[in-house]
Amino acid sequence: QSQELSQVQIDYHAALQALVEDGTRMVCTGRMHTDRICRFESLCYSTEAEEFVYFHSNSSVMLPNLGSRRFQPALLDLSSVEDHNTQYFNFVELPAAALKFMPKPVFVPDVALIANRFNPDNLMHVFHDDLLPIYYTMQQFSDLDLEARLFFMEGWSEGVHFDLYKLLSNKQPLLREQLKTLGRLLCFTKSYVGLSKITTWYQYGFVQPQGPKANILVSGNEIRQFTKFMMQKLNVSLEESSSEEYIVVFSRTINRLILNEAELILALAQEFQMKTITISLEEHSFPDIVRLIGNASMLVSMHGAQLVLSLFLPRGATVVELFPYAINPEHYTPYKTLATLPGMDLQYIAWQNTDREDTVTYPDRPWDQGGIAHLDKAEQERIIKSTEVPRHLCCRNPEWLFRAYQDTKVNIPSLIHVIRQTVKSKPGPKKQKWSGSLYPGKVRDAKCQASVQGTSEAKLSVSWQIPWNLKYLKVREVKYEVWIQEQGENTYMPYILSHQNHTFSENIKPFTIYLVWIRCIFNKNLLGPFADVLLCST
Ligand code: UDP
Repeated sequence: QSQELSQVQIDYHAALQALVEDGTRMVCTGRMHTDRICRFESLCYSTEAEEFVYFHSNSSVMLPNLGSRRFQPALLDLSSVEDHNTQYFNFVELPAAALKFMPKPVFVPDVALIANRFNPDNLMHVFHDDLLPIYYTMQQFSDLDLEARLFFMEGWSEGVHFDLYKLLSNKQPLLREQLKTLGRLLCFTKSYVGLSKITTWYQYGFVQPQGPKANILVSGNEIRQFTKFMMQKLNVSLEESSSEEYIVVFSRTINRLILNEAELILALAQEFQMKTITISLEEHSFPDIVRLIGNASMLVSMHGAQLVLSLFLPRGATVVELFPYAINPEHYTPYKTLATLPGMDLQYIAWQNTDREDTVTYPDRPWDQGGIAHLDKAEQERIIKSTEVPRHLCCRNPEWLFRAYQDTKVNIPSLIHVIRQTVKSKPGPKKQKWSGSLYPGKVRDAKCQASVQGTSEAKLSVSWQIPWNLKYLKVREVKYEVWIQEQGENTYMPYILSHQNHTFSENIKPFTIYLVWIRCIFNKNLLGPFADVLLCST
């Protein structure tokens, strides 16, 4: 590994002199530890102390300079999971003069992205917490290109999905354990620390029960740009539309099984008159899985991490998620949220086993596979009697694990019925017209004219011009929303109008000042910004 690092030649003495004279320089983005990413020059890492080191000198920079707030609770989150107390980043400070007494630094010449993977053995976590955030953190900073090197500091070994992480840059990612083999004091010439959370859509329930993130900032477009990149790197190309359409059943082979899989496959093939195939992480290579999902019309699977691969489905395809007995689909929605992101253009269907006869439980397994034998008798009985797992926090709720690791005999008529409520004819992939939604600009040149009739009646004529971008767009329906607010009041009268002018006479009083707010609406739900408020006196 150390040979690999020295591929880029650096002048060791110049680098050491620069470190001693200039110290560490840090400039960060973000206002809180939860949205911060820092760029460093000469950030060091002691592999003996297992701590990052910041060297102070006359030229060092530390922005933000938080003082002891740097420990409340940390400078930043090293993984993309928000504010998780096992994922914090900080450094220890030293004067650059201390370098004289320290091990000789080994310089890392590559631009480094330093972060934690959250749970590299679980595919949902791999994509949602690591791959997408790393990909878009690299997009954010132009020197994090394909020649950058990833450093994973969480302390795990490579894990079963390491090949996926390797696709993100041309250099082998390095793990915390491997740093020891490079030297006692490593100094990163240029590095970025932390991951962008901008693409994450789910919170796992550490402080409140799991669910979609409150403020999702990613759309299907960005997800699909990422999958396009991954497919290129995996050498997976998509078939032409002429090829045969088919359904994929993604099965688990270790736990949470579908007990009547053969029957399910036959039923799907018959109902939709389509070839139906089974895949599993155990029996297929990753590129094969991506190719098979990438061309599928429908993906059917038990709830579970493998369903994150629906991000490789073509637009128009359908995701069918199966939930074991007593597990309310509305309470576990990572894959529903993904499938229904704006612009993902997937149809999502949840099916739940509601029949106790069709479930097989495993009370005697170890607790982490859903066993409950370690609980006291009364609690075991309560769990076995319960018909729905109540909402709970992550991650060790025994009732949840017990139900999550049941096997299920899928009730075929019930499943087909649920799918048919959404999929009327043949399932997707449709060659969809681009449904990208563009928003109107402000209306322009808004004017008003008042006329007073007598002492109690008045009229207000308001007119405006179309938004500037409309003349370059094909829009099905253009409407305008006008709010009329009497000055000093906090209520207003709203109107939806089709034309660019209107005369208001209802509730318009003479000798009054009105504030008029106007915005344009495309296709019923694409609301534009309000133009500057118009002041109109009658
Ligand atoms: N997994 C699998 N086959 C199985 C069970 C699990 O491939 O029969 C994979 C699963 O997709 C995930 C990892 O093993 O990537 C961990 O599974 P676990 O049941 O712990 O998590 P979940 O799928 O519930 O998120």
